[in-house]
Amino acid sequence: MTGSHSRQRRPTTAVAAALAVAVVGAAGGTAAWAYGPDAVTGAEDVPIPAVTVTAEPGAASPGSGIAAVTAPDVSMPLDAPSVTAVLAFDIDDPASVTVVVNKTRPLEPLTFAPADLVALTGIPGGGSQRMRTEAADALQAMHVAAADAGAGFSVSTAYRAFGFQQSLFSDYSARRGVGSAETFSARPGYSEHQTGLAVDIYASSACRIKRCFGDEAAGQWVAEHGWEYGFVVRYPRGQQDVTGYVYEPWHVRYVGTDLAAALEEGGAATLEEHLGLPAAPDYD
Ligand SMILES: [Zn+2]
Repeated sequence: MTGSHSRQRRPTTAVAAALAVAVVGAAGGTAAWAYGPDAVTGAEDVPIPAVTVTAEPGAASPGSGIAAVTAPDVSMPLDAPSVTAVLAFDIDDPASVTVVVNKTRPLEPLTFAPADLVALTGIPGGGSQRMRTEAADALQAMHVAAADAGAGFSVSTAYRAFGFQQSLFSDYSARRGVGSAETFSARPGYSEHQTGLAVDIYASSACRIKRCFGDEAAGQWVAEHGWEYGFVVRYPRGQQDVTGYVYEPWHVRYVGTDLAAALEEGGAATLEEHLGLPAAPDYD
């Protein structure tokens, strides 16, 4: 199901991160725009060179729909057969927990909606928010462990339907212009929140949907231990030229424990880099 959109590398575009915007969900279901005071410094968003995409032997091509990662050879007794573990992840199927969505990889179809959404019960703020069952179970387990470590968190927003994302994006585009909106808000069909696998979390109202969440106990704990539960901080600091988004320590994405562990062990900062995908700084 590939080939309908380009996966070619494009010239890197340094998108001015003039504003970071917080979507603060109000109790009544409406959304208000808030502008973080730490959003305008931009000091940590200096454009970096785009990731060099290299094809490992045995790795599938980026357009094949399967990203294969060849594990390094393990030390084996001399009389044992050589073992090379290949982990394959389905990055195209929107129902795959390892689907990769970014500005050059929209959901197909654009209006995709997951079938197994459940409420995030047991987590503060989670009763009105939903994720896919597997991701919800993992988030609940992670929340218990984080709370036990003194790093508890609350849920801001999780699943967002195509129509809701469409409303958010058009509302902000009308206020600030499409170009500005695209630096922090996804077009409908391009948001990880639409997969039911992403969630925005927070610990204090002062740092809700703000970079300072990354300095709080919960932000640090999740960055360090999230992979153990299958989560990754999807938009790390200084990776805007790869991910297309400014640093968002609050946005965590469930990818399953296999891929999360591989990313942790491999040391790459982003899913794109780990999977050998082109950088996605901007829409095609
Ligand atoms: Zn988010």
